[in-house]
Amino acid sequence: MRGLKIPHRKKMSINDIIEFQKPKEIYIPLICGEDTNITIIPKVGSYVYKGDIVGNTKGKIKRYIHSSISGRVKSIENKMLLNGTSIKCLIIENDFKEQMLDINGVKDNIHKYTKKEFIEIIKKADVIGMSGNGFPTYMKYDTTEKIKTLIINAVECEPYLTVDYMSLKTKIKDILDAVDAIMEINKIDSCIIGVNKRNKDLIKFINQYVGTYLNIKVMGVPDLYPMGWERSLIKATTGLSYDKLPIEKNIIVDNISTIYSIYHVLKTGLPVLERIITLSGEGFEKPTNVFVKINTPIEEILEKFKLKDKELVLVGGGPMMGINFPTTNTMVTKEMSAILALEPLNRIETACIRCGKCIKSCPAGLYPVLIKDARFNKKKLKKLDLEKCVGCGLCSYICPARIDLRQIVKYAKETLKGSD
Ligand code: SF4
Ligand code: SF4
Repeated sequence: MRGLKIPHRKKMSINDIIEFQKPKEIYIPLICGEDTNITIIPKVGSYVYKGDIVGNTKGKIKRYIHSSISGRVKSIENKMLLNGTSIKCLIIENDFKEQMLDINGVKDNIHKYTKKEFIEIIKKADVIGMSGNGFPTYMKYDTTEKIKTLIINAVECEPYLTVDYMSLKTKIKDILDAVDAIMEINKIDSCIIGVNKRNKDLIKFINQYVGTYLNIKVMGVPDLYPMGWERSLIKATTGLSYDKLPIEKNIIVDNISTIYSIYHVLKTGLPVLERIITLSGEGFEKPTNVFVKINTPIEEILEKFKLKDKELVLVGGGPMMGINFPTTNTMVTKEMSAILALEPLNRIETACIRCGKCIKSCPAGLYPVLIKDARFNKKKLKKLDLEKCVGCGLCSYICPARIDLRQIVKYAKETLKGSD
């Protein structure tokens, strides 16, 4: 199995999950995935309730955008997303009243939803893959194929990140209840929770609780990056490979944060309005995890959780796959698992020495150095399977010449987008 053992740096944020639930305002980006064709529901000046739908997509893939607070729509302004795109946002001023409309159809027992109700509720609640991919979760379950195995991705292979670890340690009963309900509703035969095998204490901890859930088991997977990649995780836990989607092998994979958000949605009937994010890195005075409202401004978080007074690089997500913040005038999104404050690497790029390490390490079997060489030649790029890149960053990490191959592959992919 391809992959690399990399330093973890997780201990510094394994301490607590602090509630940060009172942002002065929120910035709701009017975008779902890459779709910006959104119907905006409230007008500037109108009142929105917590959980209200404030926008929805017009296309085939139905997505809904919600307000995580109650308050008044202050304005519609452009803000920058983490990837540098400027996007229209609803700015909502918090009245700190957490006002909600009545919620109908919530069942006392989360096991009692039918499959149809389950799909509808997670669709309306806009549950998506919360480990970065942002794929609508209902689309995985809305299948006529038999789902034999549910794999829970608790590998968290990115250094510094401890969202999964802390969620499991503090919410284990809710998470297992949700897994059990999902299995019952969708008639899934078995579940495997994949945890990095070096996390012996976590495996032992989960095992204390899974005893009564006979079809759920915990499995330690190799301490290799990127073991959290769906293909690697499925291979490590079941020995199976697939062509395009895991459902070809009757498998669905969900991340711990996604499962925890499903639990909330089934239990309360509210959409996904909060998430846990890791604040870590040498630059934070007190690294920790924070339970935060979706769309909280990053600047408000940094006012509360102080940075050290030194030169730092702020990263959204993990150091391997994350993106340097183009500005702090942006917001927490559902897919954002961390804010890291790191010391600058001062990466001085030198000439490629043709060592081939990037090729040997690429988990997708690509040739990053050849993509680099061909980056201005569309004809050559088309033959290099760029769409298989998962953006894991291993090629940049391993390169002795410090060439940022991940960025090069990403730009090359964008160059090819739309060309025939
Ligand atoms: S080319 Fe893509 S998939 Fe391969 S190592 Fe680089 S970032 Fe990862
Ligand atoms: S790892 Fe870096 S130096 Fe080695 S072949 Fe790839 S691009 Fe060149």
